[in-house]
Amino acid sequence: MVPPCPRIASPSLSRETTFGVPPHPHYSRPPQYIRNVPPELYYPYDYDSCSCSSGSDTARVSFRGPWCVCLVVCVVVATLTAGLGLPLALGPHRNENASSEERLQLVRKLLKDSPLIDGHNDLPWNLRKFVHNQLNQLNLSKIKEEDPWLTSKWSHTDMPKLLAGGVGAQFWSAYVPCKSQHRDAVQITLEQIDAVQRLVQREKKYMQMVRSSEEIRTVHREGKIASLIGVEGGHALGSSLAVLRTFYNLGARYLTITHSCDIPWATGQDTVTNEGLSDFGKIVVREMNRLGMIVDLSHSSVYTARSAINVSSAPVIFSHSAAYSLCNSSRNVPDDVLKLVAQNGGLVMVNFYAYHVACSVNATISDVIRHINHIRKVAGVEHVGKHRNLLSLVKKVQS
Ligand SMILES: [Zn+2]
Repeated sequence: MVPPCPRIASPSLSRETTFGVPPHPHYSRPPQYIRNVPPELYYPYDYDSCSCSSGSDTARVSFRGPWCVCLVVCVVVATLTAGLGLPLALGPHRNENASSEERLQLVRKLLKDSPLIDGHNDLPWNLRKFVHNQLNQLNLSKIKEEDPWLTSKWSHTDMPKLLAGGVGAQFWSAYVPCKSQHRDAVQITLEQIDAVQRLVQREKKYMQMVRSSEEIRTVHREGKIASLIGVEGGHALGSSLAVLRTFYNLGARYLTITHSCDIPWATGQDTVTNEGLSDFGKIVVREMNRLGMIVDLSHSSVYTARSAINVSSAPVIFSHSAAYSLCNSSRNVPDDVLKLVAQNGGLVMVNFYAYHVACSVNATISDVIRHINHIRKVAGVEHVGKHRNLLSLVKKVQS
C-alpha cells in the first residue's frame, strides 16, 4: 500500500494567479464533463493534489533550436503517412494472396522505417492517481498483474504493448484537472513533468526523452521509444508566459490550450460563450510559435480553435479528437475547422475512445476508420493521424 501523503496547510497565494490578465466573462464557471458523455463514463480526472514523488534522476537532452517542434509536426505528418501507409500499402497495391504473416512483416518494416508517433497518453495521470507518482510502486512490464492497474478500466498502457505495437514516439500527457485552476495547477504540472522524466529515465532500456524531430529519428533508429511531454490544459500556465517558457525548457513540446473548462484567456470545449482567444491568449500562441511549441486544440472550443489557427504561424494539432460531423461530441472537430487545419498545415489525430468515434459506449475499429476517412476526405491525407487512446481501446472498441 502507498502511504497517504502528508496534508500540509498551504499559505494563501501572494498574488492573484491571473496576474493582470483580463478574464473571459465565464472563466470561473465550474468545469463540466464533455457534452454527450455521461459523467460516469468519462475518464476519472478527479482533482488530486497529493503527490509524494521523489528522486532527481531526470534525463536531460540538449535543445537544438526554436523551430524543432514544427519539425516534429512534419515528422508526425511523415509518420502519419506511414500510419496511413499501412492500410494504403495493403490497399491498392496489396498482394491479394499475401498471408497474414507477410502483411505483418510489411507493417513491421514500415514501423521500423518511420516512427509512429502516439500524440497523447494519460499514463502519467494514472501514475499520480494510483501510486502518488512513486515509481517503485509501478512495474511497467507487468502492470496488469496487480491492482489497481489490474482492475482499472482506464489502465491499458504497458511496456509489452508499447513494444509489440511498434510505437516509435510517445507524447506523455502532463495533465492538470480544471479543479486545480487558480490553485496548484502549476505545481501539479511540474510534478507530472517530473514523473514522466523519472519514468522514462527508469525505463531507459526502452525509452529516451527527446526534444526535437531530429532526436525522435535518432532514438527511433536506436530501437527505443522517443518520449516527449505534452502539457494538457492552459490553466497550467497560471496566465504566465514565464511559466510557459519554463515548461518548454523542461521539455514540454505541446500545450493543449484548454481542457474542458474556460480559462482566463481561452474557452474550453464546454463553454457557453462564443468567444475564442483573448488578446492575451493570442500572445500565448505567438510565444509558443516563437519557442517552437506545438499548439494543441483538442478540448478547446471551436471559437478558440478558429482563433488559434488564425493567429498561429506554425501548424497546429488536435492530439486526440475525431470528426464532429460523424459524432457530435464537443471534443470533435467540425468540418469548417478541418478545412482550416488543412490550410494551416496541421494535423488531427483521431481518438479511439468509443464516445468520440461512435457517440456510444460501444464502437468498432470500423468506426475509427470512418473518422480517419472523413478527415482525409475533408482536410486531406496529410492532415489526419491517430491517437491510440489506450484508455478506451481494449474494452470499448471491439474489432
Ligand atoms: Zn484529453
